Amino acid sequence: EVYQALKDNLTSDDKAVLAATTSARATGCHGLCAQGPFVRILPEDITYCRVKAADIPEIVEKTLKQGEVVKRLLFRDRQKKTLVQGQNDIPFYQRQTRVALRNVGLIDPSSLQDYLERGGYRTLEKSLLDMRPEQVIEEIIKSGLRGRGGGGFPTGLKWKACAATPAQPRYIICNGDEGDPGAFMDESIMEGDPHSVLEGMIIAAYAVGASNGFIYVRDEYAQSVASLRKAIEEAENHGFLGENILGSALSFNIEIVRGGGAFVCGEETALIASIEGNVGEPRDKYVFPSEKGLWGQPTIINNVETWANIPVIMERGASWFTSLGTEGSKGTKVFSLVGKVANTGLVEVPMGTTLREIIFDIGGGVPKGRSFKAVQTGGPSGGCIPSELLDLKVDFDSLSQAGSMMGSGGLIVMDDRTCMVEVVRYYLSFLAGESCGKCVPCREGIKCLLEILTRICHGQGEIGDIALLEDIAETMQQASLCALGRTASNPVLSTLRYFREEYLEHIEGQR
Ligand code: SF4
Repeated sequence: EVYQALKDNLTSDDKAVLAATTSARATGCHGLCAQGPFVRILPEDITYCRVKAADIPEIVEKTLKQGEVVKRLLFRDRQKKTLVQGQNDIPFYQRQTRVALRNVGLIDPSSLQDYLERGGYRTLEKSLLDMRPEQVIEEIIKSGLRGRGGGGFPTGLKWKACAATPAQPRYIICNGDEGDPGAFMDESIMEGDPHSVLEGMIIAAYAVGASNGFIYVRDEYAQSVASLRKAIEEAENHGFLGENILGSALSFNIEIVRGGGAFVCGEETALIASIEGNVGEPRDKYVFPSEKGLWGQPTIINNVETWANIPVIMERGASWFTSLGTEGSKGTKVFSLVGKVANTGLVEVPMGTTLREIIFDIGGGVPKGRSFKAVQTGGPSGGCIPSELLDLKVDFDSLSQAGSMMGSGGLIVMDDRTCMVEVVRYYLSFLAGESCGKCVPCREGIKCLLEILTRICHGQGEIGDIALLEDIAETMQQASLCALGRTASNPVLSTLRYFREEYLEHIEGQR
């Protein structure tokens, strides 16, 4: 509505001169969801927040025609008690380093031209025409990039294994099945910068000699599908996809596959089964998909954010990428910051940034005078981290040492009113509905955990239930077939580690 109002106001007859000098573009998400929708006027960099269609005539009259700022629409910095005009001066953006999100919110995702003007497809050209496939793989290995979908496996090693497997055809898959409650990192990239995903996949196709690519998109993401479809069409029309890409020997096509809404299809072997037309159930991974994946052929599967990192690594070089992040986790990570936090939205920071910086400096802290209690990282099967660990540096390794995980990057903030046992019960009930049921430890384990948690929440728990929870949870970690079952008990174990007294209060009837 805001965009339509802007277009209508710019093109009405009496503003013909204005229309000739000003263009309106609909972009992807600006990241600061709590303050959207935004209207950002460039090059002056005047950013208006929470804009309604009814505000547009005033913006056009005052700002675009007379150069005046409409102060009531500026961002209000409550801590400094000032109004902020430029987007980059808003504290939420100041501490971020946007790599995967570099174009999101800046370009019109339906415009290939916008992407090209931001340097798009330049690194594809450089890779195809100036580098050998093994040099591309070497650069990605040197960058230390680890998969952003949750597993954290070194991307370059995956590519190397695929390229070394003597079988054809080979496939490339983009995992866009982001199913974690509260997560929307990949959605925003697919919607707001689809060409960056395509470019990453095409570079990989060249590196490993793949002929076909698939983007598996969560069914609810209709806008992502529309955005990707348009991007694929444009890329095909301009020689970036199809036969003999940019005059090289590479021929590569990409198609979109829509998921059916199963959380477990985010697991790579289940996702592969789903693309094949089979039931979306995981299989054991004694042989990795890089050797035997889609239809038994060598396959690289990475998530959306990982793909969006590839062009920029190839453009700026592995040494630039390794200058960001920590020893074991290079680069940046996108998080969706939600829950009891003032600035909900998408945050991209170098690996190693502390939870405190993300939640308080960028996120603006817990609103309404409440205090911070915990943050759940890594989606429904991540762990809950207490306030004592707010200075934890966020990377793959430190989160798993703290009993949680990076997952795909969901951060759900909870305040002092939250009952941690109820929170865990919610996540387990979600996972009970999403377990595919193929293996016993997960299928029965989640149900047992949920039964015990429900008993405890209803005041019918017994002291022996805590040991029983730990026993089942540890068995599930060791014996489940896929990551869903192996991590499903993280919320139970992390809250027993950090919030055990809440379980005891329920059991002793004090809650
Ligand atoms: Fe299915 Fe759970 Fe077993 Fe994974 S761990 S295969 S989701 S039952």
